[in-house]
Amino acid sequence: MSTSTELQEKVEKAARVVESIPGFDLSGGYDQNWAEAYIWNKLKQMQIGKDEVSHEMLISDYTKEGDMRAVFCEGSEKLAVPWFRKIFAILKGDAFKADAKDVVQETFQNGTLGQQSDVAEAIAKLIESNRPVSQWKDGELVAALNADCSSEIVSELKKRANDWAVVAFDDEEKEKVNVEVTVKMLQLSRRRELPQVARFDGKTYRLFEVGKWPNAVFAECPMHEGVLLTEDYCDECEVDYSGVSKESLVFLRILAERGEVDATDKLRLRDLIKTAKEKGLLELCILFPKAAFEYEDRKGDDSLPSLKSRLAAGRNRSQDPLNPGKRVY
Ligand SMILES: [Zn+2]
Repeated sequence: MSTSTELQEKVEKAARVVESIPGFDLSGGYDQNWAEAYIWNKLKQMQIGKDEVSHEMLISDYTKEGDMRAVFCEGSEKLAVPWFRKIFAILKGDAFKADAKDVVQETFQNGTLGQQSDVAEAIAKLIESNRPVSQWKDGELVAALNADCSSEIVSELKKRANDWAVVAFDDEEKEKVNVEVTVKMLQLSRRRELPQVARFDGKTYRLFEVGKWPNAVFAECPMHEGVLLTEDYCDECEVDYSGVSKESLVFLRILAERGEVDATDKLRLRDLIKTAKEKGLLELCILFPKAAFEYEDRKGDDSLPSLKSRLAAGRNRSQDPLNPGKRVY
């Protein structure tokens, strides 16, 4: 079951509230991030885990304030009801309402004259900061894109780019997005196919798919150079490499380079992977003594194939029409 990123983000937000409760400190009872651990623990008592289905249950009408209050406000480690309500609002996805109440309350408490306009301004700011990403302009979204940004920003941009690779970097090493070029490419992608690289003001930029980062290292299929494994699966081999050690994967690559194994011979390949999984590198060396010598030699002079690929750039149309380019995952 896939993890719910949204739920994770809500729990993190609710945890900040828990940490701010005066005199409420459970850091002795939990490891690091005690507030988060505390909330997960309480949710667990409601049979709510970190997965998507749990999140759906939590936000559904089946989960009522009273059910959750019994868990959070009674027994050990209990919260006072108002704090609980705030956390409940965040977990339910009603954080905006919770924030709005705070803003109104705080402004009234602090304000003397001009209260109304203060409240109005505070609310306007709040609405602006809570504007759903679907309403952001292209430039705003791209400016907010970085390796740590929220998953909402990534998925909204991905959608707008129609899965084209549109992201250009000023500095690939530092993963600094070039907003101007990226917005241009994003807008171009709505009208035409995109190349794999963009030329802009005399500079050349590789284009990356939204959410892919130049420094991320991906594992290549041992049989197919340049083809990335997805969760250890190779789409070209139609084979799952999970459970095969790194050394054995390198050995398989050497076999492929030597022409001793052919990925189209699926039965043999599967058999070989089974051997690799169950018996490991030593058995492979026994089965393929010549390749074993090469493996040892190349290990000695540090020239073993790495199977690591930094080629996370996009899969846009290649500029050479005769070479359609490799699909990259
Ligand atoms: Zn493969």
